[in-house]
Amino acid sequence: MKAVVFEEFGGSDVLQVKELPDPEPGPGEVAIDILASALNHLDVDVREGVSRFPVEPPFVLGVEVVGRITALGEGVTGWEVGERVMPYLMATCGECEYCRTGRESLCLSAGFISFSTSGGYAEKLACSVRHLVRIPEGLSDEAAAATQIAFGTAWHMLFTRGRLAPNERVLINSVGSGIGSAAVQLAHLAGAFVLGNASSDEKLARASEFGLDVGINYATQDVVEEVMRATDGRGVDLVFEHVGGELFQIGLDSLAKDGRLVICGGHSGEVVPFDIIPFFRSQRQIIGSFVYSRWELEKVLDLAARGLIEPLVYKTYRLDDAREAMETMERREHFGKIVLKP
Ligand SMILES: [Zn+2]
Repeated sequence: MKAVVFEEFGGSDVLQVKELPDPEPGPGEVAIDILASALNHLDVDVREGVSRFPVEPPFVLGVEVVGRITALGEGVTGWEVGERVMPYLMATCGECEYCRTGRESLCLSAGFISFSTSGGYAEKLACSVRHLVRIPEGLSDEAAAATQIAFGTAWHMLFTRGRLAPNERVLINSVGSGIGSAAVQLAHLAGAFVLGNASSDEKLARASEFGLDVGINYATQDVVEEVMRATDGRGVDLVFEHVGGELFQIGLDSLAKDGRLVICGGHSGEVVPFDIIPFFRSQRQIIGSFVYSRWELEKVLDLAARGLIEPLVYKTYRLDDAREAMETMERREHFGKIVLKP
């Protein structure tokens, strides 16, 4: 099979298109022909060797994959050749206390799926059936590939961790990003009043098509001031934070009393100063959030198939053009996911 491999850490120029042996499904596994594979910023960190995950080259990137089953390994039941499937992002043990209680993103032995299988920047993949989710009819391969991480993560943050209620006000940081735009759609669908920020008016205008009620340009406006203006000086009940750095503090300052800030990332600054006094006097909460469960993934795929949310695909590339695809993502000009189609 054809695959995009890197043999040393570095920039996009380390990516090579190579011929690799076809993966054979082991016991409990299936072989999959990959139909579409979405890119993620995690891929850049892994390629550069700064992901803080145990990855060594040679390595095939790609954790967000849609494919069709082509062969069943020994002992596989309940799955058929020809079914369209998606591996859940995490490679979990299925047996620890977290797996057994529906919190598999916290699995004691988890890694991302591509760490134990080969990745999605390829024509084929073999993986355990324990990780598979069926893809509903009515959802294209590209749209399905664009659904998992953005909407799964946003669902877990907003509803499972953040406990967003229909009458609440929520501030979504960086609405132009994959999970930011997904969060706008889900929060709107849930009946919340949705405020959001971005670095440009174009991104805010685009997000307003998906349910953003109040857009704030953080390059030209004071976010906290605008949040207070839009909420009669009260602040928001929930902040959806995934950026880090300044936006973390801005998020805290935008909260109402008893408000919650849910966070899943810190690309723009992983270590931040923190003022304890206003935090406890206003009885606020900061809630960590990591990935999502397979059950949550099935929910968002269903919403996408029913047309209630719209997975955003910015552009598709052939496998041969994976380098160009990654460079497009790294320039951060895109609105929506970048997808490879073998
Ligand atoms: Zn486990």
